[in-house]
Amino acid sequence: MSIEAETPIHRRPSVFDVTCVRLDFPALQQIIHKEPLAYLDNAASAQKPTTVIDALSAAYTFNYSNVHRGVHTLSQRATDAYEGAREIAQRFLGASRAEEVVFVRGTTEGINLVAQSFVRPRIEAGDEILISELEHHSNIVPWQMVCQQTGARLRVVPITDRGEVDLDVYADSLSQRTAIVAVSHVSNSLGTINPVRKMVELAKQHGIPTLIDGAQAAPHLSLDVGNLGCDFYTVSGHKLFGPTGIGVLYGRLDRLEEMEPYQGGGEMIRSVTFESTEYNSPPHKFEAGTPHIAGAIGLAAAMAYVEGLGLDAIEAYEKKLLKYVTRRLEELPEVRLIGTADEKAAVVSFLVDGVHAHDVGTILDQKGIAVRVGHHCAQPVMDRFGVPATARASFAFYNTIQEADRLVDGIEYVLEVFGR
Ligand code: PLP
Repeated sequence: MSIEAETPIHRRPSVFDVTCVRLDFPALQQIIHKEPLAYLDNAASAQKPTTVIDALSAAYTFNYSNVHRGVHTLSQRATDAYEGAREIAQRFLGASRAEEVVFVRGTTEGINLVAQSFVRPRIEAGDEILISELEHHSNIVPWQMVCQQTGARLRVVPITDRGEVDLDVYADSLSQRTAIVAVSHVSNSLGTINPVRKMVELAKQHGIPTLIDGAQAAPHLSLDVGNLGCDFYTVSGHKLFGPTGIGVLYGRLDRLEEMEPYQGGGEMIRSVTFESTEYNSPPHKFEAGTPHIAGAIGLAAAMAYVEGLGLDAIEAYEKKLLKYVTRRLEELPEVRLIGTADEKAAVVSFLVDGVHAHDVGTILDQKGIAVRVGHHCAQPVMDRFGVPATARASFAFYNTIQEADRLVDGIEYVLEVFGR
């Protein structure tokens, strides 16, 4: 049975119906502290639809065995489902071949793989790795490690007061010394959607390879890595309504072919003797050891589900949510929004005058509203805005205008508690 037969695209509504969509998510039906859960922490990790939970359950209940090389039926079923998942990921990302899809643990591993296998062997002391000021730690630390290992330099393009990458500085920073550009598609802490197509195009004019951190883009935007023209693109399954511990690194095939493996072990070899090893071809060359078989199957189910809803419909709906919640928050003089870019995903980071972000989060939780507080693994962004932490409400397609209202009511309650 193919994975698509197991995880059908069961709905492609002409009108996006959030009430209907919410029924697909058991977690959203819960009562927390006597209030219906308003889950607004999707940028950290998203809830899972029944189709994903069922796909995981089926993978372990009926179709489970190790993949590749098995001659028995269960191994063949598991292999078909695992490699079928790769094809769904290929389609979801707009890659031209399944070989360009490497299953990894998540965005963090994807970036580390590129840092160590692609950049490290090619970079020299004095060369530069170009990132932006709005990156998640996962797109900073792996590059710092390469810099420490090689004597290369991390160069950072600043962001404006609105949280947008300064494109003029970016363009001026590209040079023969730039070994790679690594930027996020969407900022997790500010919601900014970077003009990555333009950024890739500019890098290409200098022959500079590009990696796009798509952890926050994949749940919100229609992706087409072919059209984007980047060399690498990474996504995390758990933010995309799929399982934890699985993600995808897209790599252009010629890049993957010229790269050394990231780790050694089973699965990634063609032949081994004590004298030498011949490596497998991509993507298996980068998937040493038994992979997260059920995770890949669950991720494919999540991708198929999102495709079924339609990313254009998701984008249009979330735009409305963002516009509405932004307007309502702007009406509160005690609230300061951090990150006001023209192009944003449905993420609002904010400060409440005189109240620590952790208190905001704790009081909102008492009202059944889940937001994240802290530095959001983006300490340089907090430094840029001179704050230690923010509260962040991050929306998904299953959130509603009523939940946005509850967030605002909750903040008003926080202000009341603190006598503001
Ligand atoms: N990049 C961005 C923009 C993120 O938001 C995150 C997670 O929050 C990551 C990378 C790391 O993703 P993961 O922890 O799934 O590897």
